[in-house]
Amino acid sequence: MKLPIVKYGNPILRKKGKEIDQVDERIRTLVADMLETMQAANGIGLAAQQVGTALQLTVLDVSQVEDRPSTMMLNGQKLDPVQAMPLILLNPKIRLNEEFSSGNEGCLSFPDITAEIDRAVSVEVEAETLEGETVQIEASGLLARALQHELDHLNGILFIDRMSSVVKASLSSRLKRLQKETLKG
Ligand code: ZN
Repeated sequence: MKLPIVKYGNPILRKKGKEIDQVDERIRTLVADMLETMQAANGIGLAAQQVGTALQLTVLDVSQVEDRPSTMMLNGQKLDPVQAMPLILLNPKIRLNEEFSSGNEGCLSFPDITAEIDRAVSVEVEAETLEGETVQIEASGLLARALQHELDHLNGILFIDRMSSVVKASLSSRLKRLQKETLKG
């Protein structure tokens, strides 16, 4: 089932997600709904907070983006990222590598707003799968950026927090308007 996407201004986006200690029917249904919602919105990632549930859970799929490549290793094995999508990550932990670069970013909770954001070029993520396995992912390119964006969501951090103050100031009236619309419901 497609779920409504929570927009900026809703306080749940600022909530740190709770760890998931057991995968039950509720989690499986939530994951299926999140995948459907992300695909319908043409998104490359969606965090549980964005559908109104503060949990350590995110889904990603960069396979439709052809002009911004990714590389990926899964448990130390090189893998075509397209084959590995969608990713369903529970309780993920991230380590950023040292090199940073700027790139364009958007967010389904901020319709029509994009900005240049500095992110680590490559990352390492350890997470659990729906089957309860622990996986190690090394990623670079768009997937590395998307992982940083989604894992921020799980900690209540939004991409506006990563913008330069100049960029954020330039968006300030649009952000205020969006926040107001969201609060009006
Ligand atoms: Zn987002």
